[in-house]
Amino acid sequence: MAAIQSACAESKEERILPLLSPQTRARHNHAVRIDTIPQFYAEMSGEELDRRIAAARATLGERVVILGHHYQRDEIIKYADFRGDSFKLAQLAAARPEAEYIVFCGVHFMAESADILSAPHQRVILPNPAAGCSMADMANIAEVEECWQMLHEALGEDASIVPVTYMNSAANLKAFCGRNGGIVCTSSNAPAVIKWAFSHGRRVLFFPDEHLGRNTALKYGIPEEQMAVWNPKDPMASEDAEEELQRAKIILWKGYCTTHMRFNVQQIIKARAEYPAIKILVHPECRREVVEAADLYGSTEFIIQQIERAPAGSQWAVATEINLVHRLAKEHPEQFIFCLDPIVCPCSTMYRIHPAYLAWVLEGLVAGEVINQVSVDGETAHWARVALERMLAL
Ligand code: SF4
Repeated sequence: MAAIQSACAESKEERILPLLSPQTRARHNHAVRIDTIPQFYAEMSGEELDRRIAAARATLGERVVILGHHYQRDEIIKYADFRGDSFKLAQLAAARPEAEYIVFCGVHFMAESADILSAPHQRVILPNPAAGCSMADMANIAEVEECWQMLHEALGEDASIVPVTYMNSAANLKAFCGRNGGIVCTSSNAPAVIKWAFSHGRRVLFFPDEHLGRNTALKYGIPEEQMAVWNPKDPMASEDAEEELQRAKIILWKGYCTTHMRFNVQQIIKARAEYPAIKILVHPECRREVVEAADLYGSTEFIIQQIERAPAGSQWAVATEINLVHRLAKEHPEQFIFCLDPIVCPCSTMYRIHPAYLAWVLEGLVAGEVINQVSVDGETAHWARVALERMLAL
């Protein structure tokens, strides 16, 4: 199992570190802000990168705060001043106004949220700008605005729809929710947010994760017959589309997390057969049937808490990102912990934060150069903050 995981990781690594041509290298040597790593860093050994990151970190002192999402690899997480899920990290960034620079080791939408919630003098850096989130990319503002218009055409002006976006979405989608009486949710507070949304309207448009939306709506008591799935590529494909929308209390955007979609019920059956005392602990971005077959489900922070509070000898099969599961297993040798999918690869977008990128941006800061800053424009940030503050007020 370990060999397969390691082979998977190595093949990704080769794709992540680009080999630049001499012409490209020359262009980079003259660039002020560049978004493909210079060959110099790409060729450095792990030991050299480690030494350079530590030295740059020490030189920068309190001027920089490094945030590490739980799904980051150990070589990155060891430099994080704080670890957390996306929302906890954005809040922590806001709580460190003395840091001029926030280096966010996570993915793009997280760096945007940190920029929105941090003080104006702070600059947020995403070491590799190619670190996006495949789920967040499944909904864009043009598609969401088109959906909004089509829903109102189909349901009439009293459609009474509240838009809810998952934290895993671009800043302009959070702003869309802010402008249209909507709200943001995380996987921890999704049930409370859904309750809030139904106190403000008769229907909810939930994006971009169909599965978090469905699992949360079921928990709230909405039956599957009152849910409609919105496929942005072909929204009215079904002959009964209008009827389904009329019936729907919640409209679920057809988006998903590639990492959490790998888990299935067969894996749960196998784990239970092999380890009768096993507890199955899964993330709500998994499919409905996986969540229903599990013993417990909840956000990344919930998963960590369950394991931290469990007695020695507990056995867990966990359905979430592999770097986090491995770290939990390492930090809790008194328990037996493994990933429900034995050949799961790391989240391919989180994995793009390679130590070479961290070394590059930190050494840039030491040299007075801000590389790969993420900045949200004022208007978008304002409305996104409105939607985030509605969530914080719950
Ligand atoms: S684990 Fe899934 S939701 Fe999280 S960053 Fe990766 S693709 Fe996006």
